[in-house]
Amino acid sequence: MNIGVLAVQGGFEAHQVSLSKLGVESTEIRSAGDFGDLDGLVLPGGESTTISMAIEKYRLEQPIVEFARSGKAVFGTCAGLIVLDNKHMDLIDISATRNAYGRQVASFECDVKIDGLGDEPLRAVFIRAPRIDEIGDGVEVLSTNEDIPVVARSNNVLVCAFHPELTDDTRLHAYFLAMVESREKLKGA
Ligand code: GLN
Repeated sequence: MNIGVLAVQGGFEAHQVSLSKLGVESTEIRSAGDFGDLDGLVLPGGESTTISMAIEKYRLEQPIVEFARSGKAVFGTCAGLIVLDNKHMDLIDISATRNAYGRQVASFECDVKIDGLGDEPLRAVFIRAPRIDEIGDGVEVLSTNEDIPVVARSNNVLVCAFHPELTDDTRLHAYFLAMVESREKLKGA
């Protein structure tokens, strides 16, 4: 399995560590030529304006959009969620507001239960997190915190507002890898 991690800015290395804990090697993506035969793509947290500018500068928008539209699995976390929303690349029909939890709670942690990951809650680390304000048709909310969606999925696109790569719990990455694998199986069928 070949997973790409967008590596233009932000916390891409921690995602690579989480993936390697699950036995998966990853490729750092910085140009269109890096896509090769990727099976899945992670867009990390960081600064969404910087990431968006880098996507434009390095002409990554078209390869990312084509990748996602071809049905391959994409996972956006925090700033990566913003970049995928319907005001940016529009690869998932959600709308998010940046830094929307207010300054006093700019960073916080809480336990969240996620559909598909069993009863055991996952420790979620929020850092100047985006707030998902609108959920479109066909988008499934997999987890909420205080009634605000924090993990959502639309077919092959998974997003979360927090940083799953900053704890030792790799279950959300494993969920993403299962999405990658289920497509591979469909292809082989
Ligand atoms: N606040 C950042 C932004 O709006 C996202 C923060 C993060 O990725 N931890 O881009």
